[in-house]
Amino acid sequence: MNIEELNHPVLIRQWLSEIKTELNPIHQEIDNIVEINQGKLLKAYQREKISSHHLQGSDGYGYDDEGREALGRVYAHALGSEAAIVRPQFVSGTHAITAALFGNLRPGDEIIYASGNPYDTMKEVLGLVGHSPGNFREYHIHTRILPLTAEGKVNLEKLWEMVNSKTKWIVLQRSCGYDERPSIPIRELKRQIDYIKNHWPHIYVFIDNCYGEFVEEKEPGNVGADLLAGSLIKNPGGGLAKTGGYIAGNKELVEAAASRLSAPGIGMDAGATGGFLDNAFQGFFLAPMVVGEAVKGAQFTAALLQKAGFQTNPKPFTPRTDLIQSVTFQDRDQMIAFCQSIQKHSPVNAHAVPIPGPLPGYEGDVIMAAGTFVQGASIELSADGPVKPPYIAYIQGGLSFVHVKLAVTYALDEMLSI
Ligand SMILES: *Cc1c(COP(=O)(O)O)cnc(C)c1O
Repeated sequence: MNIEELNHPVLIRQWLSEIKTELNPIHQEIDNIVEINQGKLLKAYQREKISSHHLQGSDGYGYDDEGREALGRVYAHALGSEAAIVRPQFVSGTHAITAALFGNLRPGDEIIYASGNPYDTMKEVLGLVGHSPGNFREYHIHTRILPLTAEGKVNLEKLWEMVNSKTKWIVLQRSCGYDERPSIPIRELKRQIDYIKNHWPHIYVFIDNCYGEFVEEKEPGNVGADLLAGSLIKNPGGGLAKTGGYIAGNKELVEAAASRLSAPGIGMDAGATGGFLDNAFQGFFLAPMVVGEAVKGAQFTAALLQKAGFQTNPKPFTPRTDLIQSVTFQDRDQMIAFCQSIQKHSPVNAHAVPIPGPLPGYEGDVIMAAGTFVQGASIELSADGPVKPPYIAYIQGGLSFVHVKLAVTYALDEMLSI
């Protein structure tokens, strides 16, 4: 970057030189996690004897697709689960989570969302907002939300007041999503899962793992989660997967979910993979590194914007469990200018100017800057958020740390000029 070309070269040079050394220790910690997760994947690929023919894909019914089945086993090993289903037929993370829950719930059952408000798109699925046909409410599956503590933590003691004989599943959403609460690190998830299992061994625990994969050394499956799900255009696709989602967990629960993805009787045994498998295998193998780059980018974003006087969440130099970095801007214009500038410094559609507008599944006007190779892929650098007070933008992803560094630096420089 030629700092002299910036509008504020003196300030920015000063900030960049300060955070360069300040970031070193946390970047080293990130490198350690990348190495552990890369080693885990290497073992999983060797153990499953992944071969060229596994990358080919199938058509039609997709019977006997050995690559598809091997990909499921590789995911299961990496996520600490017994089984997994990884498919291009999952439209998104929301779809995978929906299939996982729907497949394992029956009319009259109750779900407790123990991590507070569900992610916006899930509210629609559960029937907490809107009247989308086929939502959980229509099937008499009732959701209750356990309010968080004042610190935004899961209020385990208060679970006693909610659990009843109909409670079948407790859901924990690892990443904060668009909420201001802290995300839930694996060691806390473990404590929460242990608590639930100690008191109510018959209740299943589901983890919405979106944005969490490979940010830490362990995954929810390693600490007792019964079932988890996520999106392949976030962390586990490594930027290469073009679409898809996964569900991982206990075998019979994954199979019940598969009945919802396809049909009862077909379950996991069919589903053509087309051209999906080569990108899915290669992307999953690269995912620990790409996630590491994105986390380094998030640490950089927090450090630089904090220097410039903005409030960031999480704070720089703190350990992460997901990719989400939020920054609170002072007003609407600043937030829009920053997001537009991120778009301008993206590899694809850089000339497009994002403006706030409504988005299906989300409440209110949202601005979305995403100059990505894969539409909506939030493992690639994107900046978005509801354009309303307190003007918080969520900045996540980045296929390379250096791209995040460049884009965020230019965006700050341009925003400082408005
Ligand atoms: C992204 C995300 C989802 C699912 O979103 P999709 O856009 O449907 O993939 C669900 N929960 C959380 C916490 C997420 O971050």
